[in-house]
Amino acid sequence: MNFNGIDFDTYFKHYPDEKGYFGKYGGSYIPDELQKAMEEITEAYFTICKSRKFISELRRIRREFQGRPTPISYLERLSGKLGNVQLYVKREDLNHTGAHKLNHCMGEALLAKYMGKKKVIAETGAGQHGVALATAAAYFGLECDIYMGSVDIKKQAPNVARMKILGANVVEVTDGLATLKEAVDAAFKAYAEDYKNCIYCIGSVVGPHPFPMMVRDFQSVVGIEAREQFTEMTGELPDAIVACVGGGSNAMGFFSGFLNDPVDIYGIEPLGRGPALGDHAASLQYGTEGIMHGFNSIMLKDADGNPAPVYSVASGLDYPSSGPEHAFLHDLGRVKYDVISDDETIDAFFTLSRLEGIIPAIESSHAVAYAMKLAKEMGKGSILINLSGRGDKDMDYIIEKYGIR
Ligand SMILES: *Cc1c(COP(=O)(O)O)cnc(C)c1O
Repeated sequence: MNFNGIDFDTYFKHYPDEKGYFGKYGGSYIPDELQKAMEEITEAYFTICKSRKFISELRRIRREFQGRPTPISYLERLSGKLGNVQLYVKREDLNHTGAHKLNHCMGEALLAKYMGKKKVIAETGAGQHGVALATAAAYFGLECDIYMGSVDIKKQAPNVARMKILGANVVEVTDGLATLKEAVDAAFKAYAEDYKNCIYCIGSVVGPHPFPMMVRDFQSVVGIEAREQFTEMTGELPDAIVACVGGGSNAMGFFSGFLNDPVDIYGIEPLGRGPALGDHAASLQYGTEGIMHGFNSIMLKDADGNPAPVYSVASGLDYPSSGPEHAFLHDLGRVKYDVISDDETIDAFFTLSRLEGIIPAIESSHAVAYAMKLAKEMGKGSILINLSGRGDKDMDYIIEKYGIR
């Protein structure tokens, strides 16, 4: 399929290019000593991860440990309530640990093992990526250092406990505001000092090349499964697909299965409390081109051009940029990016729970809320939503802040 001059039949051969660019976005903007480490990972990725042995081992792990393939569920009661559009969800909430993040963590940790590394390193904000990586490290018998700001350590006590139970070493970062940004800096510093023994495992389709490509490819299992399952269930492709976008990994993996199809694709960012800077994290909607965390993309900046403070009710979505491939697909128009507010998200959280018996993560509830709106606009047809994770982690917070609706 050709779309605005891009041939999607051969898209994955050309995007990213050998320097890690999706059009003008992506690349690798990091100090020289880290550049060497990235080249080592890129080289290993193209040789090891494309080998039959690696692929069949990862397939076995997905089946026996992660519980893949995750099913697609038809949302009969919600569809009936909204009219004549049929809604479906891809159940990443049923992936082991309750979200999609384990898909790329298992891939990254298996690569670390094949490369002979002893340790995996990452930063975490809300703790979800830290828990997924700690799980993968336990499975493969790797050491695991998770850098986390002291403010976040206090806020995310259950996830800190999970990481420790899984045997990870949670490294407290006290510099600056002691949140995600400082944790990223500390983790990168530790990695630069010890990259021979360890591998850095990024939590989304962000960071320098090869991470946006590698994480997308590990997450593409979601899109490949979903396309096959949906066509088997219904005899056709969905008319539209929807996923939430923070860094963009669940969306990119899901979308990659449908980019070459006549399917409308929607990526949903958090509008939070509203469109004023600081009240949302909708980087593709309101941001401009810039470089942060080692890559060029579209980002939200403050008056000095630094990454702006962001907010969302979903802690997994409050990142001031999105992966470079999203910026590319945004400019191209192949994916439509739109926003959903906190209030619409909370409504969707309760609606899906009550009508379908599925408690969604607050992040995923953004996609559900958008699909509910879209269904009313479309009038007929079908929508497939990527339910990136389950909402158990969010229940206490929602009851405290919003009460039972
Ligand atoms: C982390 C997380 C997200 C956001 O990350 P992406 O890289 O944008 O997918 C979305 N949903 C859940 C459940 C998460 O844990």
